[in-house]
Amino acid sequence: MSKITDVLSGGSAEEDRLELAPDELAWFDEHGESLPFRLPDYYAGLIDPDNPDDPVRKQAVPSVRENTVQPYELEDPLGEQRYMPVELLIHRYRSRAVFLSSGTCAMYCRHCFRRNFTGTPLQPSIDQIERAAEYLGSHPEIRELLVSGGDPLVLPLRILEAMLSRFRSSRPDLVFRICTRVPVVLPQGVTDAVVQLLSGFREAGIYVVTQYNHPVELSGESLRAVHAFIDAGIPVLNQTVLLKGVNDDEDALADLMNALVRNRIVPYYLFHLDMARGTSHFRVSLERGLRIYAVLKQRLSMLALPEYCVDIPGGGGKVSLSGNGIAARDGSAYVLENREGQRLSYEDPGEV
Ligand code: SF4
Repeated sequence: MSKITDVLSGGSAEEDRLELAPDELAWFDEHGESLPFRLPDYYAGLIDPDNPDDPVRKQAVPSVRENTVQPYELEDPLGEQRYMPVELLIHRYRSRAVFLSSGTCAMYCRHCFRRNFTGTPLQPSIDQIERAAEYLGSHPEIRELLVSGGDPLVLPLRILEAMLSRFRSSRPDLVFRICTRVPVVLPQGVTDAVVQLLSGFREAGIYVVTQYNHPVELSGESLRAVHAFIDAGIPVLNQTVLLKGVNDDEDALADLMNALVRNRIVPYYLFHLDMARGTSHFRVSLERGLRIYAVLKQRLSMLALPEYCVDIPGGGGKVSLSGNGIAARDGSAYVLENREGQRLSYEDPGEV
């Protein structure tokens, strides 16, 4: 076994504590074009170095298994490229759009579905912001803008402020959803200046959407960051991704959802894993996901119960698995109904 600092220069004290397993070490030898590695000291400090199956480690430390691409896995699993009317803006659903505000993140989650975009040093140019603002201005049916990426909270604040201000000047009624893992993986990044900046956009609605996947991530430091947003009048919602080896367990998920509610965070979605390249080792079968969700339904209040959803690969849209989204099933072959009433087939690849 080697240490992360043996294969990377400039390692931290926390990284020094992590002995790399053979599959992890092999990634550093042959990671090719895959998502880069970035692990903040804070998040590394949540890892139990003596537990090779630690849920934080699984999300943060790459494995050579990412180099195995299954035939069903896609470069752009949600088919987002098909729905980009202008650069960096995705308009797939009538009432909401996504702006890809940054190519970088505080940590690169090994399960990231947007790994075809994430990990690039992209920052939006004035022209790209302008074109997106013009599109938003001429499409009043868009009610909410998801500011995503990458992670918008790693942008220089002057760029973040200029971007949000331009979008609001184009559409004063536009609700913002700031999609970020900074409160989870680098809570020190939630400074007073960040909170103040975002709270300046409260008048038409601004929400922070985080991604806590395991209760161990709800540390005191992380909660201080989230509470700073909430106390400044910015509601915080959470989207959990169902991940094999991380949280594919009723107890862990029930504990997570209850802890979120106790801390004034709304459990919003539980996402089934998208079919992104090199992520099959994180895949939970749909059948097992549904069994886990059935237990959560029995154990959790309606406030604590997230909506379980899957995206149909290639741009078929979101389907509620907690609602009436499964129209038919024959073994691993599902017919799913999206929110537009379209029925599309979904072959569940199962678990590797
Ligand atoms: S923070 Fe989001 S965009 Fe960035 S690596 Fe994690 S899942 Fe992907």
